Amino acid sequence: MIYKNDTLAIAGFLEDTSNLKSGWTQGIFFPENVEEVAALLFDAVANGRHYTIAGNGTGTTGGRIPFGDHVIAMQRLDRIGEVQPLDSNRALLHVQAGAMLQDVQSKATSAGWFYPPDPTEKSCFIGSTIANNSTGSRSLKYGSTRNFVQALTVALPQGDMLDIARGRYLADENGCFSIALPAERTLSFRRPGYTMPATSKHNAGYWSTPGMDLIDLFIGSEGTLGVILEADLLLIPAPERVIACLAWFPGEEKLLDFVREARAGSGGVKPRALELFDCRALDFLRQSYPDIPEATGGAIYFEEESTGEDEERCLQAWLELMERCGSPTGKSWAAFDSEGLARLREFRHRLPVLVNEWLSRQSESKVSTDMALPDERFADLFRLYRDHCSREQFTWIIFGHIGNAHLHLNILPRNHEEFDCAKALYRQLVTEVLSMGGTLSAEHGIGKLKSEYLVQMYGKKGIMEMVRVKQALDPYLVLNRGNLIPESFYESET
Ligand SMILES: Cc1cc2nc3c(=O)[nH]c(=O)nc-3n(C[C@H](O)[C@H](O)[C@H](O)COP(=O)(O)OP(=O)(O)OC[C@H]3O[C@@H](n4cnc5c(N)ncnc54)[C@H](O)[C@@H]3O)c2cc1C
Repeated sequence: MIYKNDTLAIAGFLEDTSNLKSGWTQGIFFPENVEEVAALLFDAVANGRHYTIAGNGTGTTGGRIPFGDHVIAMQRLDRIGEVQPLDSNRALLHVQAGAMLQDVQSKATSAGWFYPPDPTEKSCFIGSTIANNSTGSRSLKYGSTRNFVQALTVALPQGDMLDIARGRYLADENGCFSIALPAERTLSFRRPGYTMPATSKHNAGYWSTPGMDLIDLFIGSEGTLGVILEADLLLIPAPERVIACLAWFPGEEKLLDFVREARAGSGGVKPRALELFDCRALDFLRQSYPDIPEATGGAIYFEEESTGEDEERCLQAWLELMERCGSPTGKSWAAFDSEGLARLREFRHRLPVLVNEWLSRQSESKVSTDMALPDERFADLFRLYRDHCSREQFTWIIFGHIGNAHLHLNILPRNHEEFDCAKALYRQLVTEVLSMGGTLSAEHGIGKLKSEYLVQMYGKKGIMEMVRVKQALDPYLVLNRGNLIPESFYESET
């Protein structure tokens, strides 16, 4: 196995897109097979090592940044198997954790199948998307990555390899798991005893529901319970046609009416994506897209799957809805084929890229939210962000998955005073969103950046429920220290 500890190699593993600084490591291991990962973990305590797992560094919360740990880089475990049809409606695709999401999606597509999870950033590794339960615009119809993972092979922190097929290990009526490990040990623990928020997207802390499947505990656990090595992904038939459109709105209230009606299926529309760009986000995008119509109060990007037979009716229903809500249909940007769809999706992807470029020219980090409310409260979340920010002087934008009441507010401070102000506002927004029944993170996870706010969400008692699970699986805290659970909670336990 290759091991690198030169400054240049290390530098690339001390960053992701969070702008979290001051990470450090002695070196990076690049395992080439799953046994090498398990062997590193098996010997970890004897060698006095802790490990941070690195995907491709597109995460936004510092989860892959080591603070003294050695790094396990997943990039050489990148094999993608052949599509195995189960019946006409389902197929499986076996992948290794370091395979790139876009390659997995292409493999499915070229075999005539479809892998729905679609975080906007395609250069992430599939294993990371499972560790983070990633989601994207299509989650309105398909939910998160969790729904498309049928089996996992994980390396547990003490070096055991465990195959977890969905349905194989279920929590009993007391919430307890009992798992016989290959090394004749039994792992017994209870799921966390908290209740998760009633949002349709949620990625903050360990998953916990009555009768839950063990596989769901590992999905979204941000590498704190084991290294995801391989997975069987569920594929479904590719939709025959997809209609996509960017609809411009004169003002925000009309835009919110449109979202409300689209979510309710008005006129028979069935969106699989409903994405918001507020007027400030559009101003940002004008750098790359100068033909965005002037005096636009905001835009909604929507997609719907249809068939050749149904396409005309489907299109008509959307046009009528746009007209009813004051969106000039003649000016909208629509796509009916894969090239057009790719162009519109690039427009969507361009926004965070432009924001990151802008930030790279500033001395301060952005302050961004990934919170969500229960679906029907999408307008409340939008107004909450807008109204608070309108009272401040910063540059800010709101965009994202409004169909799931999940919006990203990005505050872009130009100096340290604004940064402090933005942080204070972030704290206030967290308090307000949690009091409205929301979640701290709908898709980006907690990583190292947001763990203190997770305490606010679940309380100390809830965090100690997570500590209990972590210590049952990882008694020597070998894996991904600092992710999800603030380190002070381990100290209070010992
Ligand atoms: C422009 C942009 C847009 C984005 N849009 C979205 C979006 O729409 N939806 C969304 O959900 N996310 C989005 N993200 C966030 C990011 O792409 C995802 O979180 C992604 O899953 C990270 O993948 P990665 O390979 O880059 O992981 P990294 O950043 O390298 O790591 C992320 C975390 O996963 C852990 N990890 C990595 N591999 C494993 C493994 N094999 N086993 C266990 N743990 C592991 C790491 O330790 C770390 O905690 C976006 C990011 C960017 C930059």
